[in-house]
Amino acid sequence: MAFRRADDANVKGRRVLVRVDFNVPMKDGVVTDDTRLRAALPTINDLRSRGAKVILLSHFGRPKGQRVAAMSLAPVAPVLGALLHADVGFAADCVGEAAKSAVEAMSTGDVLLLENTRFHEGEQKNDPALARAMADLGDLFVMDAFSSAHRAHASTVGIADYIPAFAGKAMQRELDHLEKALGNPRHPVLAVVGGAKVSSKIDLLQNLVTKVDMLCVGGGMANTFLHALGKPVGASLCEKDFADTARAIMAAAKKAGCEILLPVDVVVAQEFAANTPSQTVALDGVGKADMILDAGPKTVAALNAAMDRAKTVIWNGPLGAFEISPFDAATNAAARHCAQLTRAGMLVSVAGGGDTVSALNQAGASEGFTFISTAGGAFLEWMEGKALPGVEALKI
Ligand code: AMP
Repeated sequence: MAFRRADDANVKGRRVLVRVDFNVPMKDGVVTDDTRLRAALPTINDLRSRGAKVILLSHFGRPKGQRVAAMSLAPVAPVLGALLHADVGFAADCVGEAAKSAVEAMSTGDVLLLENTRFHEGEQKNDPALARAMADLGDLFVMDAFSSAHRAHASTVGIADYIPAFAGKAMQRELDHLEKALGNPRHPVLAVVGGAKVSSKIDLLQNLVTKVDMLCVGGGMANTFLHALGKPVGASLCEKDFADTARAIMAAAKKAGCEILLPVDVVVAQEFAANTPSQTVALDGVGKADMILDAGPKTVAALNAAMDRAKTVIWNGPLGAFEISPFDAATNAAARHCAQLTRAGMLVSVAGGGDTVSALNQAGASEGFTFISTAGGAFLEWMEGKALPGVEALKI
């Protein structure tokens, strides 16, 4: 996948508009987690060191086209300044006089944060007038917010219609790793897909069976597959209406030569609560009142053996109800095995999607993975094989 990289652009003395994702957790005007600010530092530092004027654009929350004081990005500027060890200016609007005069006052190496793009109705509608007004503030556009790349908004794609657009460093890292995992991977490729429901991941599963060599279905969604195969699932989370969908996915996998791994044993309990009595049973041993809340050790052994055969692993979703002990056991064991193989140089492993990151963190395994995507929705859409507008706009 060829796309324009900010690394190759001449930025000296130029005004560079950078789309970042500063949609950070905030409580009472205080940033409570600066992970997303840190993710933007490599691009900002690089542009500053090359003599650019760095103008940052981001959305924050869902103000729906209104000015909402609690959704102002103003509190973010000093926090970013502390991370950069530099002053970060702030303009009270992302277009108009406030933005224009703040940009005009900039010197090379300066950093300016503009107010929440979603204070304008045109942002989410990708209104050309708003995109044009933002583009007029810069000479170049750098897209560095992969997590917003699945949205065709004025600040993610619209600007690229008016000024040259490039991928920033965080975006390049995402795209290079995702390409390595699914675009042009080393085979065999194993996809591990868990989580609650089949219904939310149909497109994902349908795309994966045509691209990967092995697909492990885990978590609550595996129950729907087991039900589709005539196995008892008791009181488990199970979307019986999607049994046909599960059968269609299994048929597509067979046709494409993709091996599907389903649980061969499961951990059941009668209530969804921490440290409730639980037991490991074979598939035929699930009773009427039982809830399947995790995969069993034989399943983990089979998944680990599949990882031993694989050269690439791509992972989305936990294998069980990992928030509640002991139903995190399968996710923890498999994630640690994956991290270990990766550290030993046997695997390229890429994971992403909201709950996946916390599950892998909880397992203490995320450090060992080749790459963990910070994006939720965008990572899933990319795994579904969909074109992301924010990426398309950067393609050569
Ligand atoms: P998702 O957002 O689709 O990745 O789903 C993640 C959620 O699936 C987590 O909150 C897990 O607790 C839940 N989950 C995973 N396995 C099960 C299961 N066997 N029964 C109920 N919930 C599950």
